[in-house]
Amino acid sequence: MSKRRDIAYELNEKGCHVCTSHKPDAHGYPQFQRDGRPRLVYVYLYRQVYGNIAKGLVLHHICENKMCINIAHIVVKTVSKHMNGHLKGKRPSSARLSDAQVRCIRSNKTLKQKHLGFLYGVTQSMISKIKSNVTYRETT
Ligand SMILES: [Zn+2]
Ligand SMILES: [Zn+2]
Repeated sequence: MSKRRDIAYELNEKGCHVCTSHKPDAHGYPQFQRDGRPRLVYVYLYRQVYGNIAKGLVLHHICENKMCINIAHIVVKTVSKHMNGHLKGKRPSSARLSDAQVRCIRSNKTLKQKHLGFLYGVTQSMISKIKSNVTYRETT
């Protein structure tokens, strides 16, 4: 019925389910294609168990392992709490993005700007500028 590949993983010493069946996307999260759109494996698994994620909430890996698909390692947080947690100790303005990351940000239609921001350690306004092609100059 479906050609979807089974999700497989290996257990690591921290109890993470490190996805082995699916390749990571440019953000480092394993993904698969469905209905022509990329879906994140851990989000998919989480929703299988807990249902839809309420608006304004995001999923966070407490293990900080992007390849981990163990939903026991996933918690929901509000977008702002999540971003603050991730940005702590980072200096967003100093983040340097590779050309590939910039292209990826521009082409990403599924993630919110805030979400993209903390994935890359830059501010939402930076993401917005990159998206609208304003200030970010690509370097080679
Ligand atoms: Zn984990
Ligand atoms: Zn997180």
